[in-house]
Order: sequence, then structure tokens, then C-alpha cells
Amino acid sequence: MEGMHSHKADVIKDVKSMLEYYQALGFDNLPLSVKTLPVTDTGTGLSRQERLLNLKKEIGDCHLCKLSKGRKNIVFGTGNADARIMFIGEAPGKDEDLQGLPFVGEAGMLLTKLIEKMGFKRDEVYIANIIKCRPPMNRDPEEDEISSCRPFLDKQIEVIAPEFIITLGRIALMTLTNNSKIRITAARGTFFEYKGVPVMPTFHPAYLLRNPKDKWLTWADVQKVMERMNSRNP
Ligand code: URA
Repeated sequence: MEGMHSHKADVIKDVKSMLEYYQALGFDNLPLSVKTLPVTDTGTGLSRQERLLNLKKEIGDCHLCKLSKGRKNIVFGTGNADARIMFIGEAPGKDEDLQGLPFVGEAGMLLTKLIEKMGFKRDEVYIANIIKCRPPMNRDPEEDEISSCRPFLDKQIEVIAPEFIITLGRIALMTLTNNSKIRITAARGTFFEYKGVPVMPTFHPAYLLRNPKDKWLTWADVQKVMERMNSRNP
């Protein structure tokens, strides 16, 4: 333990002298985004990627709710464990259930387009859902299913610690606000906070496929995220 403390003190000393060196050269800030560096959890010494893998193992062949009976695959989530933005949808559909990956169907293609229009590659962000198993006939997730799965999503948010969350559709908005009466048309475009992370609610891509005239509203919503992100980290 003592060895660990003195190592920590040495590292702090080294970082301090490096910063003083840059300051002496005339820099008053560093062109660094903290999230571009894979972050190791100080408690466990594990990277975010490793912690997500451990969570996936912990979920294993989950049978906490009735959806386990009909699913083909658990759809854990995909993307960069060090992502700055996390997208949260509703639940896997048929394609997602078959492939074990979120947003790989038609709605997923539209989501990918949106991500790319924002200036990211799909594998630079993280994509997950409120629940990890497909509900029969793509019905809305039920309360008991959401509450069984929620600790897993909360853990993903805690590990990834994204700078922003973008919720896609009503179910994700209702879940993260704990408000079953909230309306997406009223709430979209305005930030709220979940576990200290700013959240921007917007429409679900499946809704946008049915209502393409509203795509500009989602574009306006994600622009707010980009503006806030760029003002923090130009
Ligand atoms: N719709 C969702 O909400 N999530 C998916 O993964 C696919 C479709």
C-alpha cells in the first residue's frame, strides 16, 4: 500500500513538472481531450473496455425477466468504451436479436447516418438500449423488464462516463427521467441530467423513418450537443 502511495506521488510530481515545463514555454492550455485517452479505473486498474467485458460476463445468460424465454441473443451494446457520446434506444428488434447488436436494421442505418453527419464514425460512439432483449412482436418494454435491466444500463453509463447521452424515443426518455407521462414532442431539444451526465432527448430513428419531415428537428437537437461539446473542448 505504501509503495502504491509513493508511486502515485511520483506520478503527480512528474505530471506537475511536465505542466510547469509547458507553462514556461508559454502554453496556457493543452490541446487534449481527456476522453481521447483510454481511462483506467483507479480502483480496479481495469480499462473501461475491460470493465464492460466484465459486466457482459456478469449478465451472462440472464434470466431476470420473461424476455429471456423468447430472445435469440442478448444485445449488450456496442461501440467505444471511451466514447464521448452514448446513444440509448429502446429495445432490440428482430435484426438486433438475430445479430446480438443494437441498431443494425433500417432504423440503425438512419442512426449511423446521423452519427456520421455529426462528424463521428459509428464505432467512436457507444450505442445501447434501455432493455437488452427483444420484446415479442416488438411491443413496448414493460415496467418489470425495464427495472430488471436498468442496473445493467446504469453500470454501462457509469463505466463509459460519456460527456453526453442522447436518448432516442419515448421509452428511453421516460426511463431516464423516471416520468411515464413525459411527452417526447415537449421534451426533445432540452437538456436534462441523468447521474450527472447531460442528456439530450430526441426522436427515435424508427419514428423518423415514418415521419421524415421531422428529421430536421433531430438534427437541431444533436446540434445542441455538438455546440456544448465544442464549447467545452474546442
Ligand atoms: N430500435 C431500438 O430502440 N433499438 C435497437 O437496437 C433497434 C431498434
